[in-house]
Amino acid sequence: MGRLRDLFFVDIAIDLGTANTLVYIRNKGIMLNEPSVVAIQRLRNTTKVLAVGNDAKRMLGRTSGNISAIRPLKDGVIADFEVAEQMIKYFIKKVFTTNYLKRSLILVCVPSGSTPVERRAIQDSAYNAGATHVYLVEEPIAAAIGANLPILDPLGSMVVDIGGGTTEVAIMSLGGIVYSRSAKVAGDKMDDSIIQYLKKHHNMIIGETTAQKIKETIGSAMITKKNPNNTLLIKGLDFSTGFPKEILIDESQVQEALSEYVAHILEICRDSLESTPPELVGDIMEKGIVLAGGGSLLKNLDLYISQGTGVPVIIAPNALECVARGTGKMIEKFDKFKNLFTYY
Ligand code: ADP
Ligand code: MG
Repeated sequence: MGRLRDLFFVDIAIDLGTANTLVYIRNKGIMLNEPSVVAIQRLRNTTKVLAVGNDAKRMLGRTSGNISAIRPLKDGVIADFEVAEQMIKYFIKKVFTTNYLKRSLILVCVPSGSTPVERRAIQDSAYNAGATHVYLVEEPIAAAIGANLPILDPLGSMVVDIGGGTTEVAIMSLGGIVYSRSAKVAGDKMDDSIIQYLKKHHNMIIGETTAQKIKETIGSAMITKKNPNNTLLIKGLDFSTGFPKEILIDESQVQEALSEYVAHILEICRDSLESTPPELVGDIMEKGIVLAGGGSLLKNLDLYISQGTGVPVIIAPNALECVARGTGKMIEKFDKFKNLFTYY
C-alpha cells in the first residue's frame, strides 16, 4: 500500500508563513524556502505577477510606478486572496518536478487566528493549484510536532511560535488544544519599532529590510553583558533634509527600541500560563516552554521569557523550519496525526 501511495500520490505540506513559505514533499523533505512576497504590476483592470519569493523580496521598498512588491499575508491574515493564490500556485509549480499529473494531497498550515473565510480561501487556492485533497492544520500544532513535543500524550506542552506577523501560543494535551492565542506582535512589529526609534532619536529614515537586518545582527531582548563594540553602521535618509545619512548604532539602542514588543510577547506567555489548568502548568514547568519561528532567534529572548515567567525555555532546533518539519511529519505519519487535520 505504501509503495502504491508513493507511485500515485505526491503529498505536499505547506507552511504558509507571513514572512516565509516552506514546502515539504513527503519522503523528500523541505524542497522550497522563500519569502512570502509577490511583485505585481497593476494594469488598468488586471494584475500581472512579475516575480515571487526571493526575486520579489529584492524588490521590496525598491519598486516604482505601477509595480509593487507585496506580502499577501502580512499581518497573519490574508490581505490579498488573489495574490496569495498566485503565490501558492507558483511555489507548488516550482517544486513539482514532474508534469505528469499525479493525485496529490496538500496539507496547508494556517495561523490559528485566521477566520473560517480565510481558511476556506486558502483551501480553495490549493485546490485551484491542482490538489485532489486539501487539509489544513493550525500552525502551533504543526510547530509542536516539528519540535517533537509529545502532544498526543496526557501531558501539557506549550509552544510559542514567533513569526513575522503573529505570535501564536498553544497549550496542548491529548492531541487537542487546551488554550490558544494569536497576537499580531512579532518580527514585523520589531522591525517597525526600530524604524520609529531611528526616526525619533536620530531624525533618520530607513526601510523595512534595513530594520530587519539591524534586528537580526545586533538586536536583543535583554543585554546580559554590555559590549560597546557591538555596533552597526547604517545608511538611510535624513528626515528633514532628505539627504543620505550614515550613523553608528549600538546594541543598547536597538534593545531599547525592541523593549516594548518584547515585553508584550512576555505578557502573552504569562497570560497563557495563567489561563491554563494547574496540572498542565506543572508539566510545562518541568519540560519548559518551546519557542519556534524566526522571532525566537532574537538574542536572549529565551532568557528574557524564562526570567519573566519562571519557567524554563527551550528554542526548537531549526526554529525557522520547525513548522514545515511538523507538517511534513504529519503527512508522513498520516494515520497517527489525521485527527488533527481540519477541513472547511
Ligand atoms: P513566518 O512563519 O511568519 O513566515 P518565520 O518563522 O519565517 O515567520 O520568521 C520570520 C521572522 O523571524 C522575521 O521577522 C525575521 O526578521 C525574524 N528573524 C529571523 N532570524 C532572526 C534573528 N536571528 N533574530 C531576530 N529575528 C529573526
Ligand atoms: Mg511560521
